Amino acid sequence: MHRPIFNVQKHDASHLHYDFRLEIGGVLKSWAIPKGPSLDPRLKRLAVEVEDHDLAYADFEGMIEEGHYGAGPVLVWDTGWFEPVGEQDSLTDMWKAGALDVSLHGRRLRGRFALIRMKERPRHWLLIKQRDNEARSDSRNVMMKEWDTSVLTGRTIEDLAQATKPKRPKRLLYTT
Ligand code: MN
Repeated sequence: MHRPIFNVQKHDASHLHYDFRLEIGGVLKSWAIPKGPSLDPRLKRLAVEVEDHDLAYADFEGMIEEGHYGAGPVLVWDTGWFEPVGEQDSLTDMWKAGALDVSLHGRRLRGRFALIRMKERPRHWLLIKQRDNEARSDSRNVMMKEWDTSVLTGRTIEDLAQATKPKRPKRLLYTT
């Protein structure tokens, strides 16, 4: 059985956001979530549809250089696979219909999530955690404080930004 991949990249471009990606139809369908995913079913997260990405991009981590679209540090915030809930429609059909109901098997995001396209605003979707054993009501704190690192390397956005700053020779300190 083919297990489609999902991932989330934390990306500090002109604005900090989280890129949520699902493998559908051979590409990574992608959404930018300004506030990041939530484990709290009461919190609906705006997810703006952005361009598809190649599957190979899923584990990209590093700096997008100045002058390129999305310049800034990117880290792999979550990675795993997912499956549709219910067998009636293909993932492509669910995506076209603007109603995805999926179960995520990541390291941080687990259980059922719905992605619903807003009728009045094309390309605007809502990501909503569904009620199950993986739902949390204190997700705001968990998300932002403990989960600021890459699941691949343990690095933070600040680590990545720091690592690529040009290194200056250390100045000697003189005391008089
Ligand atoms: Mn992005």
